[in-house]
Amino acid sequence: ADRPPEAHWDGVGRTSDGHQVALLANVGSAPDSAEAVRAGAEGIGLFRTEFCYLGATREPSAQDQHEAYRRVLAPFRGKPVVVRTLDAGADKPIPFLDQHGEPNPALGVRGLRLGRVHEDVLDRQLGAIVAAATDSGAVVSVMAPMVATPAEAAWFAARARAAGVERVGVMVEVPSAVLTADEILDVVDFVSVGTNDLAQYTLAADRQLGAVAQLTDPWQPGLLRLLRLLGRSAGAAGKPVGVCGEAAADPDLAAVLVGLGVSSLSMNHPALAPVGARLAGVDLARCRAAAEAALAAAEPSAARAAARLELARR
Ligand code: PEP
Ligand code: MG
Repeated sequence: ADRPPEAHWDGVGRTSDGHQVALLANVGSAPDSAEAVRAGAEGIGLFRTEFCYLGATREPSAQDQHEAYRRVLAPFRGKPVVVRTLDAGADKPIPFLDQHGEPNPALGVRGLRLGRVHEDVLDRQLGAIVAAATDSGAVVSVMAPMVATPAEAAWFAARARAAGVERVGVMVEVPSAVLTADEILDVVDFVSVGTNDLAQYTLAADRQLGAVAQLTDPWQPGLLRLLRLLGRSAGAAGKPVGVCGEAAADPDLAAVLVGLGVSSLSMNHPALAPVGARLAGVDLARCRAAAEAALAAAEPSAARAAARLELARR
């Protein structure tokens, strides 16, 4: 059958044969959130809470946090929102949590590791998130950044559930989290891939350094093969796996991710319409074929070309 020349996103992410893939927004502030809802986001897949505190020289009060989160959540009443706990350190320095003098901050005490050093800070944040969730009426999940081991995931899940969080997830940004995903998925409700950091740590290439940008290309077959492993683990566990890194914003790569078993894609809101249109124009079998073609390639450019060829087939 002929595919229409231009498929459109009608506000519900799905492939041409009706396989649903939630199209969500990445946000860091209340204005971002208002724009995302206007752009038609089905929810928020990544609320980067640290952007409320960049430059803060002391921890914001529980009340200030509650209010800042409430303003971000409010436009999404009744819709899913994934709030990430503080991901301080390395590319997101926050003065009140800075670990002075680390030789390699990207490999240092950052993300959830900081939460384990400052349990009180994490607990106050979790409390403020739960309070804001109740006020806003958004359907809130909470996830931790930079989780490397099942023990860390279990520690966070227990902490979050004790604070009253109902749906707990972790980000998959470190290769060991992919390789131990079966055990991680035993203790959390979902996982969400941060492809920016997963590429950085898989290729051993600084995400902020232009000179190694070819290595952190999200079409790197090494990265795609890790995502295949993760898709299989999530499928076996029957739990959702989302992607909230830049990879989700590339329409062709988004189709490949769906082919690998990803169930939601979160991106900066301008990418929602192009990604939605791409998915609406291909069926799930085509996404799977595109994924297979990309996985068989040896280089990012070849992976992209092979996937595009597959996606253009009728
Ligand atoms: C990522 O690492 O891909 C991600 C989504 O988180 P951030 O970019 O905030 O580190
Ligand atoms: Mg990250």
